[in-house]
Amino acid sequence: MVGDAVGEVAGGAAGLTRRRLLAGSAALGGGVWLLRGAIGPDSASADAVAAPPAFPAGVEVYRQVFENWAGEIHTDQLWTCAPRTPQDVVTLADWANAQGWRLRAQGYRHTWAPLTVADGTPSSAAVLLVDTTRYLTALSPATTAGGLSAVRAQAGAGMEQVLAFLADRGLGVTSCPAPGDVTLGGVLAIGGHGTAVPAAGETALPGHGYGSVSNLVTELTAVVWDEAAGRYALRTFSRAEADSAAFLVHLGRAFVTEAVLVAGADQNLRCVSRLDIPATELFAAPGSTSSSRRFADFLERDGRVEAIWFAFTEYPWLKSWSVTPDRPFPSRAVDQPYNYPFSDSIPTPVADLAGQLVGGSWALAPVFGQLQFLLARLGLTGDITDVLLSGGLLRDLLTLDVITHLLASGLSSDLWGPSRTLLQYVRPTTLRMTANGYAVMCKRDDVQWVVSQVTSGYQNLLTEYQARGAFPINGAVEIRVTGLDDPAVVGVPGARAPLLSALSPRPDHPEWDVAVWFDVLTLPSTPGLHQFGRDLEQYLLTTFDGTRAALRVEWSKGWAYTADATWADPDVIARVIPDSHRAGGGAGWDEAVATLNRYDPHRVFSSPLLDTLLR
Ligand SMILES: Cc1cc2nc3c(=O)[nH]c(=O)nc-3n(C[C@H](O)[C@H](O)[C@H](O)COP(=O)(O)OP(=O)(O)OC[C@H]3O[C@@H](n4cnc5c(N)ncnc54)[C@H](O)[C@@H]3O)c2cc1C
Repeated sequence: MVGDAVGEVAGGAAGLTRRRLLAGSAALGGGVWLLRGAIGPDSASADAVAAPPAFPAGVEVYRQVFENWAGEIHTDQLWTCAPRTPQDVVTLADWANAQGWRLRAQGYRHTWAPLTVADGTPSSAAVLLVDTTRYLTALSPATTAGGLSAVRAQAGAGMEQVLAFLADRGLGVTSCPAPGDVTLGGVLAIGGHGTAVPAAGETALPGHGYGSVSNLVTELTAVVWDEAAGRYALRTFSRAEADSAAFLVHLGRAFVTEAVLVAGADQNLRCVSRLDIPATELFAAPGSTSSSRRFADFLERDGRVEAIWFAFTEYPWLKSWSVTPDRPFPSRAVDQPYNYPFSDSIPTPVADLAGQLVGGSWALAPVFGQLQFLLARLGLTGDITDVLLSGGLLRDLLTLDVITHLLASGLSSDLWGPSRTLLQYVRPTTLRMTANGYAVMCKRDDVQWVVSQVTSGYQNLLTEYQARGAFPINGAVEIRVTGLDDPAVVGVPGARAPLLSALSPRPDHPEWDVAVWFDVLTLPSTPGLHQFGRDLEQYLLTTFDGTRAALRVEWSKGWAYTADATWADPDVIARVIPDSHRAGGGAGWDEAVATLNRYDPHRVFSSPLLDTLLR
């Protein structure tokens, strides 16, 4: 029974409680943990726990703690392996099926949601982690049957390597996830996205699209059950095959070994940042202002926009990318990604203040917001006026050393370069926050309305909590906009949109042509974050009820909030999410679940959360 199964998740392994987070945070050394770099393979150990039974010879196997980037999911040491070839994964799948074990594909572990394994998975679990990042990383050039340029990439290749490989051949994509330290397999699993819709007068170049990375796939190879042979096998799905649509976004309910991705001629981009438009103007409700500096105005002009609004501050950081063949005079040319050092290498004052928050001074959240704003302003523009005018704790934290150091790393308010240098701008060393995440499908003319509804609802909640002396949010709201997944991009006759993509179009609303993505970030152990997440989620579900716009969750982030846990609300998991993909009569949800079940009837590729969600 679905209800029972969901109850088990809510109270059991997959639901992540605040108590657990606090314990985890303390165990990890509080603030120190917030600042660690990427998790390396050095946590491997080889103590005396019995090896997995009858394990295939020739595949390296070791024990390793699984911990995700945000530190919210932390397991005992689990058996882990690093297959050298796709055929090794087939061997492992047959072995797992015979032994009653599960295989969990593992990239860089940057996902917030417990899709790979549940928090607290014990060392006795019959789960084998399969690290794709060590060997399954090959890249080679390809051309599609339709003559488009493409890259053939194994699933463990990092997106930074994929984009660099394309760039070396004069190719690029229109948008992609901001970090480069994520694998192609991980990005496809969750339907990774960036921010882009066509700018005024822009027509997509061949091989370019405005939807998810998954929608760029022309073929992929997965490990699937072969009924006739009675064993697992590699199977390549062309995008022309109907079943491929279930594998393009699958949340980890399949194992993909490689994919071919279309790309187009690379385009130079200019990215201009500004911090001079108040939130009241940038996010104003339609018709409430005659300003031409609203979020939708920038979107209309440039097509590629991101707003980052630190909690308790007045001026969001707005980035706007435009296709710009030649370097404009004021722009700084860049030839590598990650050009916002002030946000990638956490400045000492942020570390200090984050430490104070985690130490229990949660009411410092407004100061923390101001601090992040001031540092962004310094790093982007070099403007120290606000710093000089600041007082109290802020003034103490922003020492001359800090200011000099930031200014010395180069200003980044106006950058220009090949697309990848501006599309990838987040390093794993950025402040480790947790995030909820949603996509609101709507028509492009309604973007400003959606943005105003999201930001006003969020702000009202923040103010209500503050009035009660509660500070559940100390990070930022981030807002981006993409097009939907138009399968025509790949030029493969018969191609369908990825079934489980948040960007899969609604047949009943052909006028909904974009999705507004947003997330709210906060430190993982912040008291009240789950209740706040729940209040916000319920507000969003009511506001975007399918009349003028509709809500879907962002798979990799936080959703299904209860008062004290994430990925736990039984109604959201069992009804709301599936219905958000069924609504409008799309094949979406049920076909995807049935197809993934058919190709893995033994559920070798599943996890506790997926057992509940994709039943
Ligand atoms: C700081 C930060 C910023 C981010 N920014 C963005 C962004 O801008 N846009 C965006 O879309 N996302 C963003 N993300 C989310 C990120 O793209 C996803 O979480 C992505 O899945 C991470 O890739 P990974 O290699 O770490 O995958 P993992 O976290 O290791 O795995 C994610 C899921 O994919 C499955 N998986 C991995 N490899 C395979 C495979 N070969 N076959 C089948 N299943 C597989 C895993 O089992 C798991 O279910 C961000 C994450 C972080 C931490």
